[in-house]
Amino acid sequence: MGEVSTDLGTCREPASSGARRVQPVTPHAPHTSRLTILRPAALFDGSSPALLARPSVVVADGVIAAVHGPAGPVPAGADVVDLPGLTLLPGLVDTHLHLCFDASKDPVGHLADTSDGLLREQMAGAARRALRAGVTTVRDLGDRGYLALDLRDHGLAGEADPLPAIVAAGPPITTPGGHCHFLGGTASGERALRAAVRERAERGVDVIKVMASGGNMTPGSLAHEPQFDAESLRAIVDEAHRHGLPVTAHAHSARSIADAVAAGVDGIEHATFMTADGVDAPEAVIRDIVSRQIAVGCTVGIDPAQAGPPMPQIARRLASMGAARRRLYESGAVLVAGSDAGVSPAKPHDVLRFAPADLASAGLGPAEILCAMTSRAAQACGLGHRKGRIASGFDADILAIDGNPLDDLAAIRKLRAVYVGGRPVVAAPGNPDSSEQR
Ligand SMILES: [Zn+2]
Repeated sequence: MGEVSTDLGTCREPASSGARRVQPVTPHAPHTSRLTILRPAALFDGSSPALLARPSVVVADGVIAAVHGPAGPVPAGADVVDLPGLTLLPGLVDTHLHLCFDASKDPVGHLADTSDGLLREQMAGAARRALRAGVTTVRDLGDRGYLALDLRDHGLAGEADPLPAIVAAGPPITTPGGHCHFLGGTASGERALRAAVRERAERGVDVIKVMASGGNMTPGSLAHEPQFDAESLRAIVDEAHRHGLPVTAHAHSARSIADAVAAGVDGIEHATFMTADGVDAPEAVIRDIVSRQIAVGCTVGIDPAQAGPPMPQIARRLASMGAARRRLYESGAVLVAGSDAGVSPAKPHDVLRFAPADLASAGLGPAEILCAMTSRAAQACGLGHRKGRIASGFDADILAIDGNPLDDLAAIRKLRAVYVGGRPVVAAPGNPDSSEQR
């Protein structure tokens, strides 16, 4: 496999927003303190638009110590893992999922019937499912009872299997009776909203999630209508930034997207620009999203085996929602991949691997799609310094796939090995260190 060029420049990166960097917790010890050298046919490093041919990647203590070109040095005593014909890429980053939703037809009902103890176990199972599909970092944008934070910090007692790195928001802030109110994050009025942000900061969340508009999975909630007014959103953002926390807003409604952008949010989830009778993405709002480099969380990835017809309110807006996303991309917005996994049967927790087709329809080329699923996604999660790239000093979260993803993005589903923190989760062929076969 030779060097592959595309006409794309470097990845667009979201603004850092002055918010603190997330320090990922690795709940498991590194696999080995010995040097391991991975020698694949090619490497996508997470940000360069071309593959590096015949690299060697040196891993020590769960971290990438060096990346060499062909014929890199092999220190005495190093374990060499030859991966002929395979391409390495950074572990995928899902910027938006819900470990507490079970991807059934009735995730809300299921949640109501599940105790915290059982839910925690199921959430760990969901996280492991993502990991086995190559998603080595997940950002949970809405849990119940801060269970995703608990899992982030402590893993699952008695379980040796690793989890992906978890970035977590805790219960999303919403209005009484509003979208996902059943997760327990309701508040209204400036005092209560600021208190809600402070509670999350004290709990140690990585990001504040606010339901700026209604949503599709909550009865009585309308996605095209705002939930919070501009003043409330400003209070949330002000209090969050005061605590060094970024804010990302669930926003379908065109009005709530405009209000959230004006309030200074760091990310917009969904960004479908819905109005009562259609879709309206004003030029001025798109300009602000671009100039402030607000991360746009594109809701992408459908399991084709489970895909059903979209909800009527989505179906009749589908074409214009697609056009709005394409305009965002063409205007220079930072688009990142988030699956919203967990919310329906078509959204199992490993569904991110089906995201490329949706991103391609917004106009992104292959290298940009991979950026949106790795380095740029990591940056949107506050982990741009540790995750999403295969480079010296980054965590050894690495996938080995069969094929060249820049020629055929379906190759990301031909997964041959997954390493998280240098530890094999899905075994490389012939790798004697394999701890688990798929
Ligand atoms: Zn969501």
